Amino acid sequence: MAQNDYEAMDVLLVGAGIMSATLATLLKEVEPGIKLEIVELQESGAIESSNPWNNAGTGHAGLCELNYTPQAADGSIDIKKAVQINAQFEVSKQFWAHLVDKHAFGSPRNFINPVPHLSFVRGKDVPFLKKRFEVLSKHHAFDKMVYTEDRAQLGEWAPLTMPGRPADEQIAATRVEHGTDVNFGALTNQLLTHLAKQANTEVRYFQKVVGLERDGDAWLVDVKNTQNGQSRKIRAKFVFLGAGGGALPLLQMSGIPESKGFGGFPVSGQWLRCDNPEVVQHHQAKVYSQAEVGAPPMSVPHLDTRVVDGKKSLLFGPYAGFSTKFLRHGSFLDLPLSVRTSNLLPMLAVARDNMDLTRYLVREVMQSMEQRLESLRKFYPQANPADWRLETAGQRVQIIKKDPKKGGILQFGTELVASADGTIAALLGASPGASVTVSIMLGLLERCFPEQYKSAQWTAKLKEIFPAREKQLQTDAAAYREINAYTWQKLQLDQ
Ligand SMILES: Cc1cc2nc3c(=O)[nH]c(=O)nc-3n(C[C@H](O)[C@H](O)[C@H](O)COP(=O)(O)OP(=O)(O)OC[C@H]3O[C@@H](n4cnc5c(N)ncnc54)[C@H](O)[C@@H]3O)c2cc1C
Repeated sequence: MAQNDYEAMDVLLVGAGIMSATLATLLKEVEPGIKLEIVELQESGAIESSNPWNNAGTGHAGLCELNYTPQAADGSIDIKKAVQINAQFEVSKQFWAHLVDKHAFGSPRNFINPVPHLSFVRGKDVPFLKKRFEVLSKHHAFDKMVYTEDRAQLGEWAPLTMPGRPADEQIAATRVEHGTDVNFGALTNQLLTHLAKQANTEVRYFQKVVGLERDGDAWLVDVKNTQNGQSRKIRAKFVFLGAGGGALPLLQMSGIPESKGFGGFPVSGQWLRCDNPEVVQHHQAKVYSQAEVGAPPMSVPHLDTRVVDGKKSLLFGPYAGFSTKFLRHGSFLDLPLSVRTSNLLPMLAVARDNMDLTRYLVREVMQSMEQRLESLRKFYPQANPADWRLETAGQRVQIIKKDPKKGGILQFGTELVASADGTIAALLGASPGASVTVSIMLGLLERCFPEQYKSAQWTAKLKEIFPAREKQLQTDAAAYREINAYTWQKLQLDQ
């Protein structure tokens, strides 16, 4: 191809959600001269999963999510995942604190707010919660967690949860005061605004990636302007497919061997939302409970305080659903068009082995409004239907991948898929997602830019931004406490 048939770029990032915005910002921190562009098919950033009303905005730190501390058959409780996610969230907070401190990034309270995190259980789950508390609170990251079975105490922590509850119902809860609600949409847009001010950096909207092919040691990417239909080509040394649910089709388009065998299982969602200030003022917490049998881990019900654009609301859910779209604004053909000979067997194996999940999804889809309110009343017995409306949440595409024993498995986390030469990478999956973006993107830098990652320049910059990384935070109580206090104060969460 002739030299000027394309624009040359060091890095092209597809999608303007929290993932691309974070990766681009990190790259500009360690390599300020790098030439990069973000292309987004919608009219602005954070329209899909990163939009504040498409996700729950929980700053996942393992403080309240019971699925991060599974119980084994012998009754023991494994806290590894909760500890890891907690440390990853501390890494995210360090990055945001650095931006606030060094770059006049705008007020952190536009995107992060203090909201206590509670776990709340009833009846047969009470012994589990008590045991979980005993194990978890011995770790330095959870040593401020408190436990109660006292109804008056819980009534103080979460006033809506007690009135109208049967007197003989056994309840228990844990609480960590230092939890957060994060508006990932506001954060994404602050990152994009910050990026757009920098040299050699473009953020462009109405730009859809429609083609992707190898060109020597780089990638030639076809981008179509969705407003005027014009196409352009970008030749990029590195491509990040940060397209959320849209990442799988693009990864398949790349044809890299590492993409073979991956499929997607879309799960849609809905919430009940309440904006009535009379109700909202009585709840200041994220209250997570135990998932139903067969429910996927991300469908754990929770009653949340949300802080979006300075206003408080309550969100309850999510109620899962099924749609063949990979993006909320996607096409019903997304799922059928993703079927390949290489992922057909894994997809069939997942359909065969996940009947509990299928039954659960059918039940959820068939629910009436009254049944949805019944679920809400397990948290808030006196909920008034007039205060709540049903809203659509974001689309999550769970990962289906090959498995030597089962043929295929369904995976609920995220997975970074990269070519062996590190010139292209995609982020698949959803949970715990936005809260741990910074750790995921640091992992990408290490994997796809191995030489630069080890260089003195990158090492020094990363040390400046992240005084303590994930492993140290998990084991070094003194470092953890120091970092946690620092980020809490820098992000103005103490105000
Ligand atoms: C119901 C729900 C609840 C959640 N709750 C939480 C929570 O409480 N806490 C938490 O931390 N995480 C949560 N998550 C996960 C979190 O929202 C996601 O992990 C995160 O937003 C993903 O960001 P992203 O940048 O990868 O994708 P997105 O925000 O979806 O962005 C991808 C972008 O790529 C664009 N795009 C797609 N295809 C193309 C193309 N071909 N060309 C150009 N652009 C393209 C899309 O338009 C979109 O803007 C939740 C998710 C859901 C769905």
